[in-house]
Amino acid sequence: MPRQIISKSSIFSETVTSSFAGAVLSINLDALTQNYQLLTKKLCGNKPSAVVKADGYGLGALPISITLANAGCRIFFVANLEEGCRLRDGISNTGIDEFTDIEIHVLSGLMPNTEEEYKSSKLIPVLNSLDQINNWQLYCQNIRQYLPCDIHIDTGMNRLGLPPNELAKLKKEKKRIKNLNISLIMSHLACADNPNHTKNKEQLNLFKNTRRILPQGRASLANSSGIFLGSDYHFDLARPGAALYGLEPFPGQANPMEQVVKLQGKIAQIRDIDTPQTVGYGATHITKGPARVATVSAGYADGYFRYLSGKGTGFIKGYPVPIVGRISMDLITFDITSVPPDLCPIGTLVDLIGPENPIDIIARDAGTIGYEILTSLGNRFHRRYLSINQIGKQL
Ligand SMILES: *Cc1c(COP(=O)(O)O)cnc(C)c1O
Repeated sequence: MPRQIISKSSIFSETVTSSFAGAVLSINLDALTQNYQLLTKKLCGNKPSAVVKADGYGLGALPISITLANAGCRIFFVANLEEGCRLRDGISNTGIDEFTDIEIHVLSGLMPNTEEEYKSSKLIPVLNSLDQINNWQLYCQNIRQYLPCDIHIDTGMNRLGLPPNELAKLKKEKKRIKNLNISLIMSHLACADNPNHTKNKEQLNLFKNTRRILPQGRASLANSSGIFLGSDYHFDLARPGAALYGLEPFPGQANPMEQVVKLQGKIAQIRDIDTPQTVGYGATHITKGPARVATVSAGYADGYFRYLSGKGTGFIKGYPVPIVGRISMDLITFDITSVPPDLCPIGTLVDLIGPENPIDIIARDAGTIGYEILTSLGNRFHRRYLSINQIGKQL
């Protein structure tokens, strides 16, 4: 079992003191590393980048990035400039020499008048339009430094990236990218999590055409699920996020990834009920006969979706315990009648997310996707980063 990291630096340190917290979020960094290695293997040894936007999908962008950097990852993607600056500061503050060559790419594009910040924090903008290309080119000319940038081509997502008419313009007017130091040409798949969707092939072909027009730099198309679509989709650099954190590449199929996250709530009180009674707000649950109900200190304010009221299941030492009644802001009630009382005294941890109820299953029950569960995880937890491998490494 990986141990909790006791780190001198604040990177892996606990946020809320264990004994004070209502719930414990454990992040298994060895599982994260194994997932990185599994994806590398899938990519025939070609190390992928890591997408750590939204604070590393809710798990902490810095500890996640440092762990993956220790596993050999040198390229990171964040969503916006703020995240990029924060990550660069965090990485610099480790003082680790090997990490100075780490690339941080910013997906959301170059907002007007932010060029200086990209330069000073050593960030690489993903240019999403001809205007952004133009602005970066002008900036680089002015400072006479041809700093790296990426170009994102929209192959069917209609969200970010150059639309077809702008790509056509680029094709005709090559001077628009003259002197541009292109690090990556990238695009993003809309339906990669459905291997049977025809859009995957369509986007693949459009991306191949794009490469004929723009052969500069490295090519990057695949997100997590894209890696599992096969080697046609791999190109020079993959950009996984979700799979690193243990989410399933293809919903409903066997998940090859290791579980990184465990969330456990503490039992705050136990109620022995002997006559039929109602439980919680709205009196939505009625106990049929004698029952034991445990109240756990976590709720929708911690990202445990209220939609799971009366639907979700927790686990106590392998015993399934159904959620009864409504999930409230800070509390969830479980029917623990089937658990031997000596196994669940006050303070016992109930698995809210664990090996028996992984994120993808909870997401399905809650009518959402694992991504939303992860990025909704709250700040009131005692967070512990577990690892055998990281202990003793320079931190
Ligand atoms: C979020 C994102 C990724 C990572 O996607 P996952 O499905 O989490 O692997 C890759 N590329 C882009 C452009 C993204 O926005």
